[in-house]
Amino acid sequence: MAGRPVIGPDRFALRLTGAAGLTAGAGLDALLVGVGSDLRYLTGYPALALERLTMLVVPARGAAFLIAPRLEVSSARACPAVAGGLIEVVTWDETDDAVALLVDRLSARLGLPSSGAIGRVAISDRLWAMFVLRLQAALPAASFELGSAITRQLRMVKDPDEITLLRLAAEAADRVIARISRGPLVGRTEAEVSREIRERLVDEGHELAEFAIVGSGLNSASPHHEASDRRIQAGEPVVFDIGGALDGYCSDTTRTIWIKGGDDAGRGADPDPDFAKFYEVLRTAQAAATAAVRPGIACQGLDATARGIIEAAGYGPQFFHRLGHGIGLEAHEDPYLVTGNLEPLPAGSAFSIEPGIYFEGRFGARIEDIVVCGPDGPIVLNQSPTELQVVSG
Ligand code: ZN
Ligand code: ZN
Ligand code: ZN
Repeated sequence: MAGRPVIGPDRFALRLTGAAGLTAGAGLDALLVGVGSDLRYLTGYPALALERLTMLVVPARGAAFLIAPRLEVSSARACPAVAGGLIEVVTWDETDDAVALLVDRLSARLGLPSSGAIGRVAISDRLWAMFVLRLQAALPAASFELGSAITRQLRMVKDPDEITLLRLAAEAADRVIARISRGPLVGRTEAEVSREIRERLVDEGHELAEFAIVGSGLNSASPHHEASDRRIQAGEPVVFDIGGALDGYCSDTTRTIWIKGGDDAGRGADPDPDFAKFYEVLRTAQAAATAAVRPGIACQGLDATARGIIEAAGYGPQFFHRLGHGIGLEAHEDPYLVTGNLEPLPAGSAFSIEPGIYFEGRFGARIEDIVVCGPDGPIVLNQSPTELQVVSG
């Protein structure tokens, strides 16, 4: 396995400068970032989500700072942005008013006479209401907007180290798919196989195995099926949709296999002809959407490429979800490949391409790869074969 890149202070300096520039450019006074992937992106700090306030403050003018409770301060100081001297940690004690401390610091940074003069602020999208309401009370004159308006512009464009981490995560997930497809599968429950997938993702270097969908037989027709106590049988398909995080960067891949049925002489071992037919349509659609990836294409255009092929083959109603989603520090993030998203695809963005065809009560299939929009076209991170694998199980 190639070495894992370490994202250093130089990258965090660029990200913080970028965030401050976009904040000022948008006419905002500050970007307030609570615990979550925006904070990790800007500082490298994978902080715990607690009822005590931890918050990165990026003012439109002046240096950014990190508000952290006293008992978290050693881990806050260890993150690359603080250890690298890019931001200062402002510590608060158990009986302090952390929000008052924050707004006082912020108004001083901005050179404003009081916090009452702070006008527009952006807050991270997933900040808990308990913090949002306190901030609103402490900044009565301010209007609040979504922080993703700023952070999405930075996070959508992956740097080479981020792409390497996404690739390592994808390759690890590919190895798990290959190993699981070799069996044994027949006679085991979906839940047992799902547990094995999670263990193997961790063995392959993921710190977190977030999901391991195993949909066998008629369950393959349910896109977000929870692995159940159903026993996998010969002569049916199985959908595996697996993923987690490796150094914070997510994997997410889906493969559908067919488990050979038939008698001992091998009669009737082939996949159901209806299944084999729509699977080929699906594979063609997935490949065509992937081939259409290039900087500047409308996000909805990729969805339309796959959907057009599936509709032309008569399976339109059976493909009832969007084509894909961005991926990075979060499993689902911008850009979304969905009808109605006219945004041009940025070079350097990373996303899934995952069409599916589902016949409720019978069977279904999905193929999912993580793809990067390279300067000249697609860079496919998953390398598992997409041809239908017919296995002994
Ligand atoms: Zn999904
Ligand atoms: Zn998936
Ligand atoms: Zn996905």
